[in-house]
Amino acid sequence: MRTEGDNMIGLRRQNRAAVLLALQRHGGLSRKRLASMLHLTPAAMTKIAAELIGEGLIFEDGSVPSGSAGRREIVLRLNDQSISALGVSIGLGKASVSAVRADGTVLFFETVPLPIRAPAERTVQLLSDHLMKQIQRCKQSFGRLLGVGIAVRGVVGADGRTVKTSFDALDTEDFPICDSFEAQTGYPAVLSNNVRALLSAELYLSRSEKPESVFFLRCGSGIGAAFSDGDEIMEGDRRQCAEIGHIPVIRHGGKPCHCGKSGCLETIASPAAIQAEAQAILSESETPLLWKLTNGGSNAVTTARVLQAARGGDEGALRIADRAAQALSDALKSVVYLMDPGKIVLYGKIFEQPYFLSRLRTEMDVGVDTAHATPMEKSRFNLTLEEKAAGLLYINHFYQNGGMEE
Ligand SMILES: [Zn+2]
Repeated sequence: MRTEGDNMIGLRRQNRAAVLLALQRHGGLSRKRLASMLHLTPAAMTKIAAELIGEGLIFEDGSVPSGSAGRREIVLRLNDQSISALGVSIGLGKASVSAVRADGTVLFFETVPLPIRAPAERTVQLLSDHLMKQIQRCKQSFGRLLGVGIAVRGVVGADGRTVKTSFDALDTEDFPICDSFEAQTGYPAVLSNNVRALLSAELYLSRSEKPESVFFLRCGSGIGAAFSDGDEIMEGDRRQCAEIGHIPVIRHGGKPCHCGKSGCLETIASPAAIQAEAQAILSESETPLLWKLTNGGSNAVTTARVLQAARGGDEGALRIADRAAQALSDALKSVVYLMDPGKIVLYGKIFEQPYFLSRLRTEMDVGVDTAHATPMEKSRFNLTLEEKAAGLLYINHFYQNGGMEE
């Protein structure tokens, strides 16, 4: 139930947003079709379309037959090659700067190494310098450059513009990162947790092909997740929704985790944990195949090689990989029974490993009745969203704001 009143500006913004988002999702639509989809009067639809065409945000693109004999309707389409946004993503020990067009085209992408607990203000300066240099260097057209989307690991503050904690990526807590980037770059900024930004990009690029709700699991160096209900990405009261990697799974003697606890899911099921555990037991007797694959060198042990060895029947590697898949599936099964998501989407390099993916699928079926069988698939955009997610945060924000900058 709406609890806020709407003034005329609010209503205009809302109607413009509805039109822009419908065109983003469905591609070209006629005024008539849009009006009926969005419950707008023909007069209101005509006015909004004229405004958006005038501002260059949409354009008329040919015509399609209308229902009645011989008549045709003009199709409206987003002018999504004419606007773009900058992106900044900050992780543990590394960051990236990028720019993306509203149609998803990446204009530039550059990774920037950072120290652990990077000094916050200086990092913003450094990344802003990289952005400005890339803008000058970039040969492609930005069109109208709207703002900068910031994706940071950790927890976003209640104001939505502050990084409450970045779990050691930055050295400062409660850091007003949007203000800082706005001062350095001169562009308006929006902020999101990094995994929520990936899910937001997944939904944006999936257009109309998305189920009602998605549980998005990202296995990078750690394990993160985000949950969407319709177009809304859930945040939770403390903005920590779907911190699945930090569910405690080992009660005594678990390994320390970046979050400050020990025995979290991430400490046994993440790609980094799989690698570290295999390094710890690497020997000719315990992990014979992995030993061969790495010539006995602990530094040559990668998650991919551990899973390759597991696939070939290496007992030590199998034990580690199977425990990881089991622990991960146990956590996901809780999600299925609690949240009943339309789909689980898997994101990360580890899901390119056939052994791990099939093991996870098998584990997901254990103890689950058919009424709870939930589609689980690798993201269609696996390994490509990092380049787009931060910039698309701003584009999405712009459309949701009705294409108005203030
Ligand atoms: Zn943890």
